Amino acid sequence: MSKKQLLLIPIVLLPFMLFGQKATNIPLDYLDRSFQTYDQIQKAIWATPELGFLETESSGILQKHLEEQGFNVEVGLAGMPTSFIATYGSGNPIIGILAEFDALPGISQDTVPYRKPVEAGGNGHACGHNVFGTGSVAGAVAIKEWLASTGQQGTIKIFGTPAEEGGGGKVYLVRDGFFNDVDVVLDWHPATRNAVNVTTGTAIQMVDYTFHGKAAHAAASPDKGRSALDGVEALNYMVNLLREHVPSESRIHYVITNGGEAPNVVPEVATVSYYIRHPKREILQDLVNWINEAADGAAKGTQTTLSSEIIAGFYEKLPNRKLAEVVQKNLETVGGIHYDDRERVFAEAIANDLGLDNSALEDVAKVQPLDEEKPSQGGGSSDVGDVSWNVPTVSFGTATFVPGSAGHSWQNVASGGTTIGTKSLINTAKVFALTAIDLYTNPTLIDEVKKEFESRRGSNFHYESLLGDRAPALDYRVKK
Ligand SMILES: [Zn+2]
Ligand SMILES: [Zn+2]
Repeated sequence: MSKKQLLLIPIVLLPFMLFGQKATNIPLDYLDRSFQTYDQIQKAIWATPELGFLETESSGILQKHLEEQGFNVEVGLAGMPTSFIATYGSGNPIIGILAEFDALPGISQDTVPYRKPVEAGGNGHACGHNVFGTGSVAGAVAIKEWLASTGQQGTIKIFGTPAEEGGGGKVYLVRDGFFNDVDVVLDWHPATRNAVNVTTGTAIQMVDYTFHGKAAHAAASPDKGRSALDGVEALNYMVNLLREHVPSESRIHYVITNGGEAPNVVPEVATVSYYIRHPKREILQDLVNWINEAADGAAKGTQTTLSSEIIAGFYEKLPNRKLAEVVQKNLETVGGIHYDDRERVFAEAIANDLGLDNSALEDVAKVQPLDEEKPSQGGGSSDVGDVSWNVPTVSFGTATFVPGSAGHSWQNVASGGTTIGTKSLINTAKVFALTAIDLYTNPTLIDEVKKEFESRRGSNFHYESLLGDRAPALDYRVKK
């Protein structure tokens, strides 16, 4: 090889290095170097578990990091003080990433493999949203590193979406048009395994029914009273009868959030909070109408009056096969989670406590094959549903939690607050980065994704949120 040929090599290789294999390493190297940074961020949010719409510190921690990383951060959108949108880059395509950060009530737990609340009755990250929000932010920053070093056109937008657990923050952002210019949304959730999620889950309507009666001495003058709690009980009784006659994939559950104060006072006010779900939102609407009629009947029969409030409502998820295949490829490239000795001891203790042997832990190191889509048989709901009917969206999970752990369990709080949670969020961020690079560098891919999205949604689709025109229920987690 001549001297001249040798000199030519770097020039010839330069574009390849920037847009090929080497450029892909930029975000991955960034994430490997930044383990400590994101470990601290996720643990800071874990240690400050805040409930829906009250996540001031958690949201603030993520905003601060994004600002330091050069993102333009807008806060308090769609009437929600803890929401934010952080943007980096310019022009199309615009890729959105979702970040959640709310905790759950009553499930406080330390990072130990046995039940030990940090604070009795306190909040806890039993759905792993400390890891969720941090992984999404890490992914967005890694994508920024790639955009900045390659000079590639494109925008990354990270949506800080409050109150996923029952408040439906994403629905308000969708309803107010904040996703209108986004081409593709990437979503994930902490899980017990590494897999792309192709299920639709269920659409949900959350309704509070409040009965108003007349207070009276329950022993001296019960005839003067009308019990609001009777209204609640009559409604629940009717719902438990109609349960047998609804499609089997339906899910209906309730808690009485106000059942009166003392047995010797006929309750003047009583409230029952319902979650009503079905995989198809059209059928869900029939169920809600039926329960509304039962509530009217319950009020009539108990001579009480009724008021009801839709707290939130989410669409079922709309999958996208093309996007799922891209994420599957990248999830396989990144691979599973590898426990070190300390993490293994912790995970084995949790698995054994759940009655499983150590082989149950093998899943965390693997990536599951891409599932075929099957009709949903019930299951949970997410406000990601509304996003997915407005922008092509893909969801996946990485192994944040010990296999065998139930959703919303103390085991999840424990595991998510350790380095296992951090490993899972770093893997997630890598999948986000590789997927974004695929989308930025291959415009036909986005065209194919959008074509599939349009055909699944149908040409007559018109978005109307299931929560009507209500404002965000900012106080739904405030104890009254
Ligand atoms: Zn969750
Ligand atoms: Zn949850």
